[in-house]
Amino acid sequence: MSEQQFDFDYICIGGGSGGIASANRASMYGAKAAIIEAKELGGTCVNVGCVPKKVMWHGAQVAEAINLYSEDYGFDVDVKSFSWAKMVENRQAYIGRIHDSYDRVLGNNNVEVIKGFATFVDKNTVEVDGKHYTAKHITIATGGRPSIPNVPGAEFGIDSNGFFEIVEQPKRVAVVGAGYIAVEIAGVLSALGTETHIFVRKESPLRSFDPLIIDTLVEVMAAEGPTLHTHCTPKEVVKEADGSLTLHLENGESYNVDTLIWAIGRHPATDSINLAATGVETNARGFIKVDEYQETNIPGIYCVGDIMEGGVELTPVAVKAGRQLSERLFNNKPDAKMDYSLIPTVVFSHPPIGTIGLTEQQAIEQYGEKSVKVYQSGFTSMYTAVTKHRQPCKMKLVCAGDNEVVVGLHGIGFTVDEMIQGFAVAMKMGATKADFDAVVAIHPTGSEEFVTMT
Ligand code: FAD
Ligand code: NDP
Repeated sequence: MSEQQFDFDYICIGGGSGGIASANRASMYGAKAAIIEAKELGGTCVNVGCVPKKVMWHGAQVAEAINLYSEDYGFDVDVKSFSWAKMVENRQAYIGRIHDSYDRVLGNNNVEVIKGFATFVDKNTVEVDGKHYTAKHITIATGGRPSIPNVPGAEFGIDSNGFFEIVEQPKRVAVVGAGYIAVEIAGVLSALGTETHIFVRKESPLRSFDPLIIDTLVEVMAAEGPTLHTHCTPKEVVKEADGSLTLHLENGESYNVDTLIWAIGRHPATDSINLAATGVETNARGFIKVDEYQETNIPGIYCVGDIMEGGVELTPVAVKAGRQLSERLFNNKPDAKMDYSLIPTVVFSHPPIGTIGLTEQQAIEQYGEKSVKVYQSGFTSMYTAVTKHRQPCKMKLVCAGDNEVVVGLHGIGFTVDEMIQGFAVAMKMGATKADFDAVVAIHPTGSEEFVTMT
C-alpha cells in the first residue's frame, strides 16, 4: 500500500487521556488525524475516573468542613439535608461541559472523531461498524477496565464505574481493595456519612507507599473512618432476601452491607480489539509491550496509557506519552520520548497523600543504607489544630549520596495534594537537600515544612 492510499496519517484507538492528547498534538503539526471512541470522549479520567472522583472528594471536603470543623470556628450550622442526587447531577453537568470542550478543541484541530468500537483488520487498517479506516501510524490507547475477583457472588458487587452510577446515598458500604481507588472511594463515602468498611487482604492499604504515609493514613482512618479491616480476603458474596449483601471472608468473618464495591485493580482493554491481526505482542496479562518510544514490536503501531506494560496508570502519564509520541512522529523530533522517572502522584484520600520518587526502603535498596539520609516532619495541620478534630500532617524527604540529592518526597495531610507539584520540578532538576534549605519558607503554610527539615 502506498502512502497516498491511507485514509489518515494517524489514528488513535481510544478517545481517553492518551488518545486525545496524541491526536490533537499530531494534527497541530498538520497530520491528518482521527480518534476512534466506543463510548464518551475523555475516557476513564473524565467519565469514570479522576474528574467525577475529584468532584465527590470536594463534596466530602465540604461535609468535613461542616461536620468536623465549622463548630470550633464559631459557626452554629444546622444542615437540613444532603442530596447525593444533586451532587451527582451537578457533577454530570460539569462532565457534559468537558465533553463540549473536547468536541470544540478536536474540531478546531481538525481531528476526525469516529464513534464506535474499533477492531484491527491488519496493521494499517481498523474496522468500526463494518467500515474500514486505514492509517500509516496507529496508536492503541484503549485503557483498562476494573477487575472483579473470582469468588461466588462477585456479580452482586459493583466496580468503580458502578460507583459513579449510584444516584442515592448508600447507607452501609463495603469497599474491597487496597489501592488508590479503594482508599479514595471509601474516604469519600465515609466523609459524606455512609457507614463505610474497607477490606484489605494484607496488613494495610497502599502497601507500596512509604510506611510513614501508610501508618498516618491508618491512624486517621481509626480516628475518623472509614473502618479498616485488615487480613480480609473475600470468600463469597450472598444476596439476602431483603436485597442486602453479606460479604463472607476467608477468616470466617461476615459483614452485611447495602452496597459492595470491588476496587482490586484494573486490567487492559486489549482482549477484544483483534490484536492477533497485527502480531502486536502483549504480556500474559494483556498489557502491550512497547519500547522506550512507545512503539510495539510491529513498526507503525504504538501504545500509550494504561494498557502499556510497565506503565504508570495516571492521566498525565498517558497525556505526556501521547504528546511525546506525536512530537516524534509528526514534528521531526526523533528523540522525543516520555521520561517515566520521578512521576509525582496524589491519592485523594482523607487526608490527601502526595508522593514523588523513592520510598525510604527503595532508596536503601538502590543506594545502600549508608548513602541514604532521611528527614522527617510531623505536626498538626493548623486548619484542624484549633478544633477538636486535630489531624496529623507528616512529611518525609529521602536523600541519597554525599550531596544529598532528594530522591523521595512524601507527605500526608491537609492540602498536601496541592503542595507537591512544584517540588517535582525541583526534583526533576536534581535538587539536593541544600537546595531545598536555600529556599525561603512561606509562612504559615504546610509546605514550608519541606524546606525547613533538620
Ligand atoms: P482511558 O482514559 O481509559 O481511555 C481509553 C478509551 O478507549 C475509553 O474511552 C474507551 O471507551 C476507549 N476504547 C477502548 N477500547 C476501544 C475500542 N476497541 N475502540 C474504540 N474505543 C475504545 N489518574 C490520575 O492521574 N489522577 C486521578 O485522580 C485518577 N483517578 C482515577 C479514579 C478512578 C476511579 C479510575 C478508574 C482511574 C483514575 N485515574 C486517575 C487513572 C486515569 O483515569 C487513567 O490512568 C487514564 O484515564 C488512562 O488514560 P488512557 O488514555 O490510557 O485510557
Ligand atoms: P491498584 O492496582 O492501585 O490497587 C489494587 C490493590 O487491590 C492491589 O494492589 C492489591 O493490594 C489489592 N487486590 C488485588 N487483588 C485483590 C483481590 N483479589 N482481593 C482483594 N484485594 C485485592 O488498583 P486500583 O484499582 O486502586 O487503581 C488502578 C490504578 O488507577 C492505580 O494504580 C492508579 O495508578 C490509578 N488511579 C490513580 C488515582 C490518582 O491518581 N489519585 C486514583 C485512582 C486510580 P494488596 O496486594 O495490598 O492486597
